[in-house]
Amino acid sequence: MTKTSKFDSAYLRRVNCVRTFCTIREHGRISRSELADITGLSRATVSETVRELLDREFIWEVGSDSISRGRPPVQLEVNPLRFYLVAVEIDVSWVAVSITTLVGEVLVQSRVEFCTTDYDYVLDLCVNTIRRLLEEQGIEREDVLGIGVAVPGQVDLNRRVVTFAPNLRWRDVALAEGLERNLDLPVLVSNEAMLAAMAEKWFGLGKDARVLVFVSVKGGLGCGIVNDRTLLLGVSGSAGELGHMSIDPKGPVCSCGSRGCWEVYSDEQAILFRATEALRRSKDSFLAHTSLAENGRLTVEDIVQAANQGDATAKDILRETGWYLGIGIANIVNGLNPDMVILGGQVASSDVVLEEIRRVVKERSLQIPSEKVCLAPTHLGDEVALMGCIALLLDTLLEQPDGRLNADTITLN
Ligand SMILES: [Zn+2]
Repeated sequence: MTKTSKFDSAYLRRVNCVRTFCTIREHGRISRSELADITGLSRATVSETVRELLDREFIWEVGSDSISRGRPPVQLEVNPLRFYLVAVEIDVSWVAVSITTLVGEVLVQSRVEFCTTDYDYVLDLCVNTIRRLLEEQGIEREDVLGIGVAVPGQVDLNRRVVTFAPNLRWRDVALAEGLERNLDLPVLVSNEAMLAAMAEKWFGLGKDARVLVFVSVKGGLGCGIVNDRTLLLGVSGSAGELGHMSIDPKGPVCSCGSRGCWEVYSDEQAILFRATEALRRSKDSFLAHTSLAENGRLTVEDIVQAANQGDATAKDILRETGWYLGIGIANIVNGLNPDMVILGGQVASSDVVLEEIRRVVKERSLQIPSEKVCLAPTHLGDEVALMGCIALLLDTLLEQPDGRLNADTITLN
């Protein structure tokens, strides 16, 4: 995240720092001269940036791989043991917590279910799970650089408040402050789709993308937009709420109060509604005979699996969903001219959905942007938002002169 102009020195410093750190992380071990060759940065810039990363103990020097000629080049490696990061994803019925190294390697992960929308209950669940995992791993609090939290809702980054999470029925909850008060660690909170976009840029398919859009299809539909290495935040941090672009002015009322929003036709609730209607008409579908359908607990995963096994009703449900997703994505392609659109959520593992989106995008988007765009399902699976928390923490930490998060650095202002 950045609040600086593209042309000021702080921005350039951050870009160089992130590029150097990422190159070291991706290569495992690398010398300074190899770093300069790969990044295209001058030797002086590499030397300065490496010194900064060494001072912060984010990387360390690990001797040499070559002793045949003269003085061997010192290799650089991300310091895997010095600091740790905590990633938390809050969904509508579970909390997942991961503790990772600075490389993004997961040391331990835990997922705890809940069945309430009570904020205090969920806050306690997060606090207790984080405490338990740190204790189990024998990690001291001072060795944790920060906690990143993904939420299924809008976050006001100025006030660091979850302003609206419709599926949790949360409005204006001070989640970051609540976690900080209980754990005495700096906390960054952001929207799960925005974080998923960050994850793709750092760890996934979008490493080389110039304009990347992540479309997250879950209980709602959210998007994250990364331009070069910078997440598009908007003025108060809510950019990417493309699920609420109206695609039918007279359509059904959305949770946001507007009508005919894209997510009303495309999110998981829409898919399940479509399935219920289809099963009423077609009793011969495989889906109609599952106990899950009888109990009213059919999931999108069930529908995707049934379609992958050839069930015609499930395929129709997903094709219609892909049609609506394609309409929204065609608008995104026309409006933002991305080179990469990545789909997340259970629907990302449906070939029927992907084929239909590709067909509609080709049919409905302008020629020039449609020629340049690649649409792909995420390869980071269910972990994508958690990996996004790690990406956000690293990105923000690398921006800080002292490599630490503090009150000034974790608000947008
Ligand atoms: Zn809406």
